[in-house]
Amino acid sequence: MLSFALTDEQKQLVEMVARFVKDRIIPVAAESDEEETFPHDLYKEAFELGLVAPMIPGSYGGMGCSEIDQVLIAEELAYGCTGIQTSINCATLAAMPLMLAGDDAQKAKYLGMLTAEPTYAAYAITEPGAGSDAAGIVTRATQDGDDWVLNGQKCYITNGSWAAWYIIFATTDPTLRHKGIMAFIVDRDTPGFSVGKKEKKLGQRASDTTTLILEDVKVPKANVLAPAGHGFKLAMRTFDRTRPDIGAAACGLMRRCLDESVAYACERETFGVPIGKHQMVQRILADMAIRYEATRLLVHKAAWMIDEGDSSSLVASFSKAFGADSAMQVATDAVQVFGGAGYMREYPVEKLMRDAKILQIYEGTSQIQRMVIARRLLAAVT
Ligand SMILES: Cc1cc2nc3c(=O)[nH]c(=O)nc-3n(C[C@H](O)[C@H](O)[C@H](O)COP(=O)(O)OP(=O)(O)OC[C@H]3O[C@@H](n4cnc5c(N)ncnc54)[C@H](O)[C@@H]3O)c2cc1C
Repeated sequence: MLSFALTDEQKQLVEMVARFVKDRIIPVAAESDEEETFPHDLYKEAFELGLVAPMIPGSYGGMGCSEIDQVLIAEELAYGCTGIQTSINCATLAAMPLMLAGDDAQKAKYLGMLTAEPTYAAYAITEPGAGSDAAGIVTRATQDGDDWVLNGQKCYITNGSWAAWYIIFATTDPTLRHKGIMAFIVDRDTPGFSVGKKEKKLGQRASDTTTLILEDVKVPKANVLAPAGHGFKLAMRTFDRTRPDIGAAACGLMRRCLDESVAYACERETFGVPIGKHQMVQRILADMAIRYEATRLLVHKAAWMIDEGDSSSLVASFSKAFGADSAMQVATDAVQVFGGAGYMREYPVEKLMRDAKILQIYEGTSQIQRMVIARRLLAAVT
């Protein structure tokens, strides 16, 4: 039987996260954005509430949450601030390749670090010369006896400054493209590894984004996560699992836009009536609500399919592409509803509009999602 109802446990989970967001995230979100700082104390609290990488199985000290639980958490956190949510959710992005391909010792050590105490981890594939074209990375992996030596640079890496360990994708030979790509787990304190510049961003400014530098970084064989020919697939399988989280973040951001806009439409008067009485404003609000609801359905379907064991479904890309594009539209509309006030930092919606943009870019741009979708649609003829 088809049901859209949450279980009692899920309702309690959502209420708990919503309380944390209202009491702890919303009060510091604007200041964290303005000062471009991440509230580490909140990460600690999020950890204590079980919100950091909540899908890590119980056998590694985690909560073993379903994907549906994961997207419910992501939506609530994003309602408060997608910058803070991105940095909390980054632990899931880094843990996922380990969950998919790690051996027991790797999982016990590195997932165990994430569940033992508040710890950051990062996922690094992007390079200055290769973002959308991930098979074009040039960070080099050279075998040295049983070990591997990494040389290169990664850019735009979330939580780069603070991670205790990193999933690093590198290639044995750039001319092999996807066939040469490996994945490694790199400890932060490995000699030759350093964190480069911290980026100054348009939005999601609470979230840390940095360059990583690898100079003769020696990685033991035990930290090889995927051999050549398997690293690229692992990077893509990871995104199949994490893209619904971006859709969920879009939902949280859109719901916040809608709540702020409805409240303002009831309070702000023009021509002697609240602006919510004007049909053209009503239409904007109605379209915002439709986009939120439609995205949420896609996100929940994508999450449900993952929980059912189908983690290569196109619905994950639908939820990411439609969610990100909708969030950008809805946030722009929220600024419109606020008029001039919407353009001012004093009001919350200008931040929502700046924050929305990155949803269309990271973990595969909106164009790349459409490429993924079209390639599958046309598989029979290409
Ligand atoms: C705030 C932030 C956080 C990030 N966090 C991480 C992280 O934690 N880890 C990580 O590895 N990366 C991270 N990234 C990197 C992000 O995933 C890449 O920026 C993204 O994949 C796009 O790559 P690019 O910037 O090189 O753009 P490009 O690949 O140069 O793309 C430029 C434009 O061309 C379009 N384009 C490219 N190829 C095609 C094509 N074939 N068809 C149609 N259009 C195309 C793109 O859609 C885009 O509009 C982050 C980025 C940002 C900004």
